[in-house]
Amino acid sequence: MKKIISYVLPIYNEEKNIKKFYDSLVKTIGKETKYNFELIFINDGSKDESLKILEEFAKNDKSTCIINLSRNFGHQAAITAGLDHASGDAVIIMDTDLQDPPSVSIELVKKWEEGFDVVYAQRKSRQDTFFKKVTADAYYRLLEKTATISIPRNTGDFRLMDRAVVLELRKFREQNRFMRGLVSYLGFSQVGVQFDRHARYAGETGYPIKKMVKFAIDGILSFSTAPIKLINAIGSIAALVSFIAIAIIGAVKLLNPSSLVPGWTFIVISIFFMGGVQLLMMGVLGSYIGRTYSEVQNRPIYIIKNSTNIIENKSS
Ligand code: UDP
Ligand code: MG
Repeated sequence: MKKIISYVLPIYNEEKNIKKFYDSLVKTIGKETKYNFELIFINDGSKDESLKILEEFAKNDKSTCIINLSRNFGHQAAITAGLDHASGDAVIIMDTDLQDPPSVSIELVKKWEEGFDVVYAQRKSRQDTFFKKVTADAYYRLLEKTATISIPRNTGDFRLMDRAVVLELRKFREQNRFMRGLVSYLGFSQVGVQFDRHARYAGETGYPIKKMVKFAIDGILSFSTAPIKLINAIGSIAALVSFIAIAIIGAVKLLNPSSLVPGWTFIVISIFFMGGVQLLMMGVLGSYIGRTYSEVQNRPIYIIKNSTNIIENKSS
């Protein structure tokens, strides 16, 4: 029996890319006669014609599947939906805007055949805006410093996972998901494959700055308690500064009492300073409490409106 390779392909407003992406992927996997392939497209509440185009593909090919979510649940939830329904011996997660070249996915398969459980595609270069490059680089450095797991630098969600890894990953049902962190957390044998990341072929990024910031914060809060420890550090510094200030005032009062009248400035500054620090730290607490709240609610990560050609249902 041939091994099955599943592709998990999230789609959010990709009408201008899908056709070209699909043709390019089908052409690539067409050459790999050793395997059977399963393409799982997850329509993450696209507002354009993406779903119609997908339905055309699925009609003509039973190995092209669609999971149509009831609304936009976000990239990480869409990937989760795909992973839950992938029946392959190996599963590849890939963007559908042609930033992740289909040919590289075959290199991932080759590494998997060498015996690795997780093969992640690592960017040698990326064609993104200067801003995105700089912030992404700084972010992954920060994450490496603070997080309890080590997430390989310059990797996105483009990766291959053995079925055993996918089955473990399905057990993680947290709401605020940072999939690449979870995969690192799982362990198994992991290896990187280098590739050049292209620019998005057409359309706009589904990660405007607001979503990107939320995603970045999810990454830190999921795998690091550094921010909450920061409360102690900043609190201590603030306390120390206050003690020094008290000592200085005391000294001035003893040595030169007449100069103390304009002390008003100092009081106002301290109030602002302490108020600021307290608000900031409450914000840190709030971030964790907020997450606790959404985890406790334990809502489904995504909702499926309908699906086409799907054979596997979550079994874990
Ligand atoms: N995507 C999704 N839901 C979203 C946003 C994006 O399924 O809410 C998909 C999108 O179609 C693409 C992938 O996730 O296949 C990565 O998104 P995008 O290319 O917009 O992100 P970027 O590459 O700019 O980080
Ligand atoms: Mg992209």
